[in-house]
Amino acid sequence: MKIIMLGAPGAGKGTQAKQIAAKYQIPHISTGDIFRANIKNGTELGMKAKSYMDAGGLVPDDVTIGMLLDRISEPDSKNGYVLDGFPRTIPQAESLTKALAERGENIDYAIDVDVPDEAIVSRMSGRRACVSCGATYHIVYNPTKKEGICDACGQTLILRDDDKPETVQKRLSVYHEQTQPLIDYYSKEGKLVTVDGTQDLNDVFRDIVKVLGE
Ligand code: ADP
Ligand code: AMP
Repeated sequence: MKIIMLGAPGAGKGTQAKQIAAKYQIPHISTGDIFRANIKNGTELGMKAKSYMDAGGLVPDDVTIGMLLDRISEPDSKNGYVLDGFPRTIPQAESLTKALAERGENIDYAIDVDVPDEAIVSRMSGRRACVSCGATYHIVYNPTKKEGICDACGQTLILRDDDKPETVQKRLSVYHEQTQPLIDYYSKEGKLVTVDGTQDLNDVFRDIVKVLGE
C-alpha cells in the first residue's frame, strides 16, 4: 500500500502516518524528519536545507525530489510506504507519479487531513518533538507521561524552531500557495480521501482505517 499524507503543517499528518505505518507494517517516510536528521548530523544536505526550513520556506525541489526517490528505492519500501510531507509542490508530485509509472506502480491513496488555519497555530505551539526518534507529542492533546521527555526513547523533547508562531504563519502561506493545489491534483487522479482532522486523533485514525480497511 502506497499512501501520501496531505494537509497543512500541523494538521496531524505525522501523527496519523505513524499509526498507519504501525498498523499496515509499512515504513513511515517523512522528508521533514530526513532533513532534521541531516541537520543534526551536520551533513551537506542538512546544511543546504536548514536556512529554508528555519525561514518557513520549502527546500528546493532539486534537493528534495532526488532524496525522496532514493529513499523509496530502498528494500524496505518494496511493499509500500506512507509519505509524510512529500509531495509539497506540483513538480514533486509529477516527479513521483512519473518515477512510479516507470516501475508500473501508482499511489493508492492521498489522504488529506483537513484542519482550518485557526486551529493550526495552537497545535504547532504545543507540539513537542523528539529529534532522536522522530516521535511527536502535544502538551495538551497528546502529552507525554513525563513532561518534556520522550515516552518512546527517553530523550529530551524540543519545540521546533519552525513551530514558533511567526514562522507558522509563513509556513501556512507557503502551504496555501504551493501545496494545497495537490488536493486538486490527486482528486483528478481519483486518489483523494479527505478526513476531518479537527476530531480527536483516535477518531481521525478510525476514519482513515475505514478507507484503508482493517
Ligand atoms: P504534521 O505532521 O501535519 O505537521 P503533527 O502530526 O506533528 O502534524 O501534529 C501537529 C501537532 O498537533 C502535534 O503536537 C500533535 O500531537 C497534535 N495533533 C495531531 N493530531 C491532532 C488532533 N487530531 N487533535 C489535536 N492535536 C493533534
Ligand atoms: P515537516 O516536518 O514536514 O513539517 O517539514 C519541515 C520543513 O522541512 C518544511 O517546512 C520544509 O522547509 C522542509 N520540507 C519537508 N518536506 C519538504 C518537501 N517535500 N519539499 C520541500 N521542503 C520540505
